[in-house]
Amino acid sequence: MQDKKFSVVIAGGGSTFTPGIVMMLLAHQDRFPLRQIKFYDNDPDRQKIVADACEIIIRERAPQIKFLATTDPETAFTDIDFVLAHIRVGKYEMRSKDEKIPLKYGVLGQETCGPGGIAYGMRSIGGVVEIVHYMEKYSPNAWMLNYSNPAAIVAEATRRLCPNSRILNICDMPIDIEGKMAQIAGRESLHDIEWKYFGLNHFGWWTSIKDKKTGEDLMPKIRDYVWKHGYNLKYIKGDAGVQHVDPSWQVTFEMVKGFAPLDPNTLPNTYLKYYLCQDDVVAHSDIKHTRTDEVIEGREKEVFTECRRIAAAGTAKETSFVVDAHAVYIVDLATAIAYNTKANMLLIVPNEGAIENFDPTAMVEIPCLVGSDGPEPLVVGKIPQFQKGMMEQQVSVEKLTVDAWIEHSYLKLWQALTLSKTVPSAKVAKLILDDLIEANKDFWPELK
Ligand code: NAD
Repeated sequence: MQDKKFSVVIAGGGSTFTPGIVMMLLAHQDRFPLRQIKFYDNDPDRQKIVADACEIIIRERAPQIKFLATTDPETAFTDIDFVLAHIRVGKYEMRSKDEKIPLKYGVLGQETCGPGGIAYGMRSIGGVVEIVHYMEKYSPNAWMLNYSNPAAIVAEATRRLCPNSRILNICDMPIDIEGKMAQIAGRESLHDIEWKYFGLNHFGWWTSIKDKKTGEDLMPKIRDYVWKHGYNLKYIKGDAGVQHVDPSWQVTFEMVKGFAPLDPNTLPNTYLKYYLCQDDVVAHSDIKHTRTDEVIEGREKEVFTECRRIAAAGTAKETSFVVDAHAVYIVDLATAIAYNTKANMLLIVPNEGAIENFDPTAMVEIPCLVGSDGPEPLVVGKIPQFQKGMMEQQVSVEKLTVDAWIEHSYLKLWQALTLSKTVPSAKVAKLILDDLIEANKDFWPELK
């Protein structure tokens, strides 16, 4: 393709996802050639574990790419074309509290949904906005591809606080589900299907799935399967369908069958289980062992053990790290900007009339054509009353959370928690909020 080689910084270099993303970037050098990869993190020790291994991987596989890892913003963000941002403010220690505090009161505890998502949002806003400011100070022409969660709250905050910034908010969950839908429909991969989708982040529905070449409507076949088995591929692929899928995710994929029939004309995102099967989710939860514990014992342990092994061996020739296939969307998005490809991608953007009967200021997740000037949202039209009602409630939760962060308002945050479909009453919302304030005092603005 073009001669230009790009420079990227991965913000949140110490993330467990970083090695898979580096492997993915190296595998796509033909269409997204790099001259430099930098890591940036505010935890030098955590980042070093990942960086020491990735330095070896890059040196062995693509020695032409310069590499450095730093905690200094100026070094990290100078001479950059793209910021790939996946930070977790408060790390797993705080994620664990987001999950366990609501459960104490019989309310589900989750990273991005319900009270846990609100708490994480209140931590993330400052961290993500800080990175936008570093990018604009040191590389004003760069673009930030942000997949730090909770993406819905972060996107609403950047819309308000950095309205002219070159930031694209994207999520990998719909892409993962589209891959599953393609397999359910007997297609090879998600590249064989085309789709239509609308909603908020972690809160949306597909309205059309078609074969890309023939235009065949694949919704009936996928719907039949999903109503019986959810998106669990076990029933078509046996054990191979659930290989590398943590037990809690298998439950999540299966649970979709309980609420998908609410609307025969659409297929839901898995995350809707937190709003439509709250009681089942709480019943399946163990306050002593939540998803964070599963990640610490699983993904984090595996990734860090392999990083340390590579660093000690001084070579990554035998590494078990593989290309993170889900993360290919990052290259798709970067090349869309770099080469004006007008790729059709699902992004979190201001509605501005794309969904005709919905708040124009809401950050919605809808298909966009992406080119050098950024995303051009496609028209969705009118959405049904059921989805509209749910989305109005949820978008208000997200907006009130951002209000609370900006205004330092206890009242707005209490309203946000009370309005969440996951919380039964204002009283319970207040009990959870007061515990969350205590737990987050090093991260949240002081609320008045
Ligand atoms: P992780 O804890 O392994 O890594 C996050 C890193 O961010 C840590 O090294 C931490 O030190 C660093 N960090 C925290 N605050 C920072 C700040 N202010 N500045 C710089 N670095 C900071 O977390 P993870 O499980 O790899 O997840 C990372 C993020 O990616 C989370 O927000 C997660 O929800 C998100 N995620 C998004 C998608 C998506 O497609 N949207 C998919 C998976 C994960």
